[in-house]
Amino acid sequence: MVDSVEQMFEKSGALLKGHFLLASGLHSPVYWEKSLVVQYPEYTEKLCRMIAEHFRKSGAQVVAGPTTPGIILAYETARQLGVRGIFAERDESGPGRVFRRGFKIEPNEKVLVVDDVMTTGGSVRQVIDAVKKLGGIVVGVGVLVDRTAKSPDLGVPFYACHRADVITYPPEQCPLCAKKIPLVKPGSSQPKT
Ligand SMILES: [Zn+2]
Repeated sequence: MVDSVEQMFEKSGALLKGHFLLASGLHSPVYWEKSLVVQYPEYTEKLCRMIAEHFRKSGAQVVAGPTTPGIILAYETARQLGVRGIFAERDESGPGRVFRRGFKIEPNEKVLVVDDVMTTGGSVRQVIDAVKKLGGIVVGVGVLVDRTAKSPDLGVPFYACHRADVITYPPEQCPLCAKKIPLVKPGSSQPKT
């Protein structure tokens, strides 16, 4: 029995189910502790293979991801494609991301951008900008999970291993509160009292 993408996240503890208080103040029956999935090389390999297979014909010469899980995802996807894998870090001198540590992208080099869970697309857009700044061409964006309300138009081919619907409730309309299920603030193991 092969695990579905959702099962891989659930088994690794990266997809929690219950009753959660999100940073936005909304309540949700699910919470993505997204980085937990990449602690399992077996899952990382399978997920990155889905991205690599999808973009195998894109001609990508480099795979780039945003720190921190993007380092692992870029490495593994690049390994499967037989190309280089690099990562873009936060730009301390301003917004956005930059390639440091001597990472280079040649002009017109084809770059595949990868990330873990896309929520707003912000970090992916920052990597796209960093690639373009060096003259590279983004040939696609591949993520493990797309949980944007509406898949963003990034202007390049987009692939997600899994599409997750975003379910949130204002506290006063929360059916989980109505059932008196204890509310958990992610990051703490104790139910909120
Ligand atoms: Zn609630």
